[in-house]
Amino acid sequence: MNALRSALRSALAAMSAGAIALYASAASAGDPFAFEWTELDKGVWAGVRPVSYNSPPTGSALIVIGKKGVFLFDPAGTPLVGERVAAKVAELTDLPVTHIAVSHWHGDHSMGMHKVLEKYPNAEVITHEFTARAIQSPLNSFTPPTDDDVKATRERIETALRTGMRSNGQPVLPEMRPYYENVLAHLDLTTAELRGLKPITPTKTMTDAMTIDLGGRKVELRHMGPGNTNGDIIAYLPKEKILATGDIVVSPTPYGFYSHPASWVNVLTQLKSLPARHIVPGHGAIMTDTAYFDALIEALSFVAAEVDRLAAEGKTLEETRAALDWTAVEQRVTGGDPLLAVFFDGWFKTPIVEAEYKIATGQDSEDLSAPAPQP
Ligand SMILES: [Zn+2]
Repeated sequence: MNALRSALRSALAAMSAGAIALYASAASAGDPFAFEWTELDKGVWAGVRPVSYNSPPTGSALIVIGKKGVFLFDPAGTPLVGERVAAKVAELTDLPVTHIAVSHWHGDHSMGMHKVLEKYPNAEVITHEFTARAIQSPLNSFTPPTDDDVKATRERIETALRTGMRSNGQPVLPEMRPYYENVLAHLDLTTAELRGLKPITPTKTMTDAMTIDLGGRKVELRHMGPGNTNGDIIAYLPKEKILATGDIVVSPTPYGFYSHPASWVNVLTQLKSLPARHIVPGHGAIMTDTAYFDALIEALSFVAAEVDRLAAEGKTLEETRAALDWTAVEQRVTGGDPLLAVFFDGWFKTPIVEAEYKIATGQDSEDLSAPAPQP
């Protein structure tokens, strides 16, 4: 037990040190669509953003080169990412992209794929069957920002930086300034990218498992149950022991929109049993072990148990939010880091409680017929 506690403390210290390094690089990082590329094994490359929470979110990409063709996992959240991923493939090999798989329906993993398909038009586009339906659904409706939207965003951020207060009445933490400054610096580029997003059209769907043979190299696609979404799939290279998780794993803090907490715990537990030397999360730095999975399991188990208990007592959603004591779980995930606490609150606590409350009260946490609220 003491060994476990001490391991946890070291992990938290390391996470904190990592967060400080992130602050330092947040202001000076390139545009928000720039990847850092790492060769995980010969011919297997991961593209990951140096500051995963920079706005707008865009998922990590995996390139796997075989003897016959190239496989891409989550190739492009925006058109510029798509152009860059296609250029990276062309730089690495003359072989064409033959297969593309998308981890789940959220557009930040696929809505720039048309730029990859311009260069590699014959690639098979594979998703889970739920994902294919979700992409066409009202829940995936998206309105590009108008000039007025962009102006309002610029004014809101400039005001926050000038007054030190966010529009929700919370103070602007010193650690948030690089994040806001980065949004302002790239607002025109981001707007152009958001206006260029296109939903994908899958050419093949799967349910539980599929194996792709690239010639001398195999990629396994697996769906292990509902988690971050109902149609999550992971990509796994059994020989090379490389795992790409999509948003089942997102660091430094998770996303929890329309999710399925109890089942997600089960998925993470299954993933932990896959031997993996390199783990590429949907967003965030490449991992070499599953220590962070345990923090996610704790957070999701807490939500599933506590929200169910409070809902069973007849509490409303707002009463449930107010009654939850996140202290231990938040410390576990954020290490007490104030900037990470802001993201943990907005991208996990708020949406995941609503999702579990829906499940606990017999509703669908991911109702495809309900249009998504527009920002
Ligand atoms: Zn994502």
